[in-house]
Amino acid sequence: MATHTEQLTRVAVQLRGLTRSFGGRTVLDGIDLDIPAGQFVALLGHSGSGKSTLLRAVAGLDHEVVGSGRLTAPERVSVVFQDSRLLPWRRVLDNVLLGTDGEDRGREALAEVGLEGRERAWPNELSGGEAQRAALARSLVREPELLLADEPFGALDALTRIKMHVLLRELWKRHQPSVLLVTHDVDEAIVLADRVLVLEEGRIGLDLTIDRPHPRSYRDPLLGEYRERL
Ligand code: ADP
Ligand code: MG
Repeated sequence: MATHTEQLTRVAVQLRGLTRSFGGRTVLDGIDLDIPAGQFVALLGHSGSGKSTLLRAVAGLDHEVVGSGRLTAPERVSVVFQDSRLLPWRRVLDNVLLGTDGEDRGREALAEVGLEGRERAWPNELSGGEAQRAALARSLVREPELLLADEPFGALDALTRIKMHVLLRELWKRHQPSVLLVTHDVDEAIVLADRVLVLEEGRIGLDLTIDRPHPRSYRDPLLGEYRERL
């Protein structure tokens, strides 16, 4: 168990001078970024600004990135993408468990995302929202310290998206991972995150702490109404 001081100073992500170029074009231009343990961060930016490139680097999926940094142990990092990336030839529960054991934990995770009873369904029997729930469950069973999400709700309709916002925020409260959520939806960023970053010209152009409870109270009546139908 971490001591209180360790808890306060632990960082999930610490980037120094992170730089990435493609064919001489610099996409990430010396990024410094600290994400404390447990913080929910949203990363905004225009299409092509380098959000996915940054996320891939943080995930350790990019070996050509330059700079230094420190990350949570890679085995404690989970990534969720815009498409669920469920394996179509495996049932939902098997997708969630992939590479892990503990069937009970898998069932629990599915229940947590509202997919109780769908353990034996095939991925193509799920709606887009349900598939993303399964993807979140697959992340959860790994008990990530850092959850990376690249526009995870970008392909969903507006109402399903709101339900997913409620779900993600509840999962975050319960499990307290650090989250880096890439989105181009300003509303999504403000509703969900405690800190919003904007990527501009290869740098963090804006680093904004969201003042609670004001922006969330604006949304709460709406979220409250949908919570009952989750
Ligand atoms: P975003 O996710 O913000 O839309 P990306 O990180 O996907 O942006 O891409 C940022 C820029 O880097 C884009 O101009 C894109 O074309 C370029 N890029 C990303 N990945 C590659 C790659 N593997 N090869 C060449 N260019 C790339
Ligand atoms: Mg992208």
